[in-house]
Amino acid sequence: MPRIAVIGAGAAGCFCTAELRRLLPEAAVDVYEAGPKPLAKVSITGGGRCNLTNSFAGIRSLSEAYPRGERLMKRLLKVFSQEDTCRWFQAAGVPLVLQDDHCVFPRSQDAMDIVRALLRKMDGARLLLRTPVRTILPESPSPSGRIRYLVNETPYDAVVITTGGAPKGLPLLDNLDLEWVPTVPSLFTFTVRDTGLRSLMGLVVEAGVHIPGTGFKAAGPLLITDWGLSGPAVLRLSSYAARHLAENGFESPLCLNWTGRTESEVRTLLQEISDTNSRKQVSNTPPAGLPARLWEFLLGRSGVRPDIRWAELGAKGFNRLVSILTQDAYAIAGKTKFREEFVTAGGVSLSNIDYSTLQCKKWPGLFFAGEVLDIDAITGGFNLQAAWTTGYVAAHAIAAL
Ligand SMILES: Cc1cc2nc3c(=O)[nH]c(=O)nc-3n(C[C@H](O)[C@H](O)[C@H](O)COP(=O)(O)OP(=O)(O)OC[C@H]3O[C@@H](n4cnc5c(N)ncnc54)[C@H](O)[C@@H]3O)c2cc1C
Repeated sequence: MPRIAVIGAGAAGCFCTAELRRLLPEAAVDVYEAGPKPLAKVSITGGGRCNLTNSFAGIRSLSEAYPRGERLMKRLLKVFSQEDTCRWFQAAGVPLVLQDDHCVFPRSQDAMDIVRALLRKMDGARLLLRTPVRTILPESPSPSGRIRYLVNETPYDAVVITTGGAPKGLPLLDNLDLEWVPTVPSLFTFTVRDTGLRSLMGLVVEAGVHIPGTGFKAAGPLLITDWGLSGPAVLRLSSYAARHLAENGFESPLCLNWTGRTESEVRTLLQEISDTNSRKQVSNTPPAGLPARLWEFLLGRSGVRPDIRWAELGAKGFNRLVSILTQDAYAIAGKTKFREEFVTAGGVSLSNIDYSTLQCKKWPGLFFAGEVLDIDAITGGFNLQAAWTTGYVAAHAIAAL
């Protein structure tokens, strides 16, 4: 009877265990969890509603969703896709809903339905709570070439490491001589000191954000907060530029395009407003979609007098408006958490693992799944999808050993 250890009862570990129970009902599966509860993080995902996956309809390429791990995810999603995730949870008794923003949630809007479904499917596995794994020691290979592993001194034929993001590294890998990509935070919001901007707190606009001098850019709803900037556009940029921002102490210039349109489109738009409202004051005729409060603030920043009429604006004033609308410069002065939702970029380097099985190349019988790997995604259910997919692939590879 094979003995399997799963280390970490999070999304990837529990999904892997559920599949192992289905595929190898006679195997002994021990799930080690450092904390007092399994799936503690899943129970609070998506603000307690659990955004468990995404239809992927809103992204043009997989690298948009997975800034790190895109190539691996491309391969593994062919084995276990977002549609497979939906089928799996629905078959496990959790009806789902697809929102207009492409995110998938349980119909009940209760993450505990996901937790309970996974725990039902794991039935028969031994859950060892409050049992952190401190060491994994490979034993010398048997004549067949198989290696057994001592997990906290208990021997196993296969081990799956699903310990999640490790901001401070993972000491339990110390004996295994694996390549590690230094970890940095991802999915955070930006502190901006400009008090004028912060006085607009609560405003949401469709905008573009980019870091000047780099290729890092993102677009989408932008939320002005009492500490700076948040919303999907900022979270995406924090993910794409995670390593760059960490290397620069989370301080960086930031450029905002308040319209989400190109400079020439904005020129045309302003020209149309000017032509049809030539006798009106600029401050009374904001471009469509731009809140009046924001327009007033931007006029102040541009140095254009709010009471000036469009007909009196002149080329210089016109250019200043185009520039402030499309290239408004601020400074990121630090990071803040977004509703405590964050992930870790970096981890076990993908160069250590076989892309088809998630087995460690150096240590046969040792597998990795979930955020412990150097895979992470933007918000929207993509991170949990990576956990389900990698957990599934590792379980099927173990069953095929
Ligand atoms: C507040 C919040 C909300 C989120 N919301 C969403 C969302 O709605 N949709 C989405 O896609 N993603 C979301 N995420 C990201 C998502 O939750 C993670 O990417 C996902 O949980 C990673 O799964 P995992 O199994 O790899 O790691 P985890 O779920 O973190 O599980 C790892 C487990 O391993 C245990 N462990 C660690 N070390 C040891 C050890 N040495 N021995 C034993 N056990 C150990 C930990 O205690 C933990 O239980 C959210 C994240 C946060 C923080």
